[in-house]
Amino acid sequence: MAETVKKTGFVQSLFSGLIEKELLKPFPAYGNEEREEMFAVLDMVRRFAKDHIDPVKIDHEHKIPDSIKEGMKELGLWGLIIPEEYGGFTQSDITYNKTMEILHGICSSTAVMYGGHLSIGLKAILLFGTDEQKRRFLPELASGEKLAAFALTEPGAGSDAANIKTTAELSDDGKYYILNGRKQWVTNGGFADLFTVLAKVRQPGEDIVTAKLTAFIVTRDMNGFSSGKEEDKLGICGSSTTPLYLENVKVPVENILGEIGSGFKIFMEVLNTGRLSLSAGCVGAAKAIMPHAIEFALQREQFGNTISEFEMIKEKFARILINTFTGESMVYFTTGLKDNPNVSIAIEAAICKAFTSEALWQTVNDCLQIAGGNGFMKEYPYERFLRDARINIIFEGTNEIQRLFIALSGVRQLSVQLRRYQKELTSDKKSREQQINQIYEVIAPAKENFSFDGFSEKINDQTAMACSLAQRLNEIATKAVLRYGTDIRDMEFIQRRLADAAIDLFGIFTNIARVENLIRNEHHTAHKAILISRIFAQQAKRRINHNLEDVEENQDEDLSKLADMLYSSEKYPFEILDY
Ligand SMILES: Cc1cc2nc3c(=O)[nH]c(=O)nc-3n(C[C@H](O)[C@H](O)[C@H](O)COP(=O)(O)OP(=O)(O)OC[C@H]3O[C@@H](n4cnc5c(N)ncnc54)[C@H](O)[C@@H]3O)c2cc1C
Repeated sequence: MAETVKKTGFVQSLFSGLIEKELLKPFPAYGNEEREEMFAVLDMVRRFAKDHIDPVKIDHEHKIPDSIKEGMKELGLWGLIIPEEYGGFTQSDITYNKTMEILHGICSSTAVMYGGHLSIGLKAILLFGTDEQKRRFLPELASGEKLAAFALTEPGAGSDAANIKTTAELSDDGKYYILNGRKQWVTNGGFADLFTVLAKVRQPGEDIVTAKLTAFIVTRDMNGFSSGKEEDKLGICGSSTTPLYLENVKVPVENILGEIGSGFKIFMEVLNTGRLSLSAGCVGAAKAIMPHAIEFALQREQFGNTISEFEMIKEKFARILINTFTGESMVYFTTGLKDNPNVSIAIEAAICKAFTSEALWQTVNDCLQIAGGNGFMKEYPYERFLRDARINIIFEGTNEIQRLFIALSGVRQLSVQLRRYQKELTSDKKSREQQINQIYEVIAPAKENFSFDGFSEKINDQTAMACSLAQRLNEIATKAVLRYGTDIRDMEFIQRRLADAAIDLFGIFTNIARVENLIRNEHHTAHKAILISRIFAQQAKRRINHNLEDVEENQDEDLSKLADMLYSSEKYPFEILDY
């Protein structure tokens, strides 16, 4: 039987053949005291944002006025999640994520600036800094006296972050690291005072490939540091995005975060939590755009009816509601698990990022379409939301990278467990498939692994569906690992399908956990939530089955050939008038 090792996460356990029932109940809830404080903070944020942030002006002028930064300073927002002992506001991750929802709903440029500081810019200090580093840097960052940024990407290293070329060499007196390199597209790059920078510590004469990835705290006042021209962007136009230049910048050894060589781990950990607040922001933007489309649909008349009555419009609104609800379930379920020391949320955060950013893109596109020609006009908010939403699919790790991470981390345990069976497989394709089926019959996890009881009868259909789909994911993933062994690392058609199946399955489970909570609490929205989660589950089931079937039987070789066809012709290879 496939064994599961603790200290994984909910989704990795699903891949390995276990539903971690205890993580599903209860869905994170918040005590009255915390709730009151949280609502007070969120009220304050909402009022500030509504009264002081003008998203149209910011988008038009490509600049966030200093008055907004100052206002956020007065409210203590720059230090929202920094502990009080370092000058912060000590609020929870839930409050932070809800704040990101509000800000993204009003102005994504402002939200991205805020997240650039708090989600990723200073996060490495918060998570990995020594007490001395925290005391030295956090108070000014918490007060907003200084703002932070996160500098990973370089012209030659985007998704392949480990391939950065920025070097750090120890000075002769051993007191400094001398940094040289160029960073690209750094959010807040134009004005931030402090930068978390990834560089490679290189010994004299050492090849850059073997140099050790290390995280440094760099400040703008250091000699040799400069930032370049603001990028002219498609969306989030008010946010600052610039290159950084490091020319013999002397960074004190005391500014190293963590150990030499631990930089990649630190940066990836920062992005894990960053992805969660980005996802909350996507949910917030979806919630903010939908009332515009609803109002429009209810008053716009065509063919003697309001367009809200037409089924193709209703279908869009249903999709908007299902996607936003499910994204919200995923984000707040994962946020609730974040501080559990026995659970990793890396895969879950990647799922949240991929799902909510694409759900938002679809939602904004649907809302724009519902508004018809008006949707295309700058007078209405749809086109700005559309432009602003697009970045979420790209930054903090593109969704392609999220998917390969979800699939490969998902099957990691299976790959270790199945190694010994792989050695026994014959090379003959047909008998190997038979062998794989036989092995799975022997090692298939016990049925009890795929069951969870104690949930309301009202969602029996959904829990049964979730159990059987979890079993199917384990079976197909196990067989794929047996079939392809380590080659699976290069098989992205397969990875994409496994990842999408896992994303949908996580949506089903998190909706169930949330709905169960509402039913238990006899909440007045329970019946609506049951309907939404049932429809999501039914739709997701069809997608999951389709994706998993295609892992086994597909046209991948031909699809590859088609792409190669375009690469070799370097343009559309047909001319209809030639015949
Ligand atoms: C507005 C904005 C703000 C940003 N802010 C910051 C910031 O504050 N700090 C920072 O460090 N960076 C920042 N970035 C950089 C951002 O994180 C990168 O753009 C992103 O990670 C992708 O890297 P890339 O653009 O170099 O694309 P590439 O890595 O070159 O990828 C190009 C395409 O190829 C795909 N691809 C790459 N590898 C694979 C693979 N193995 N399999 C399948 N597909 C693949 C990608 O998904 C993408 O579609 C920002 C970018 C933008 C646009």
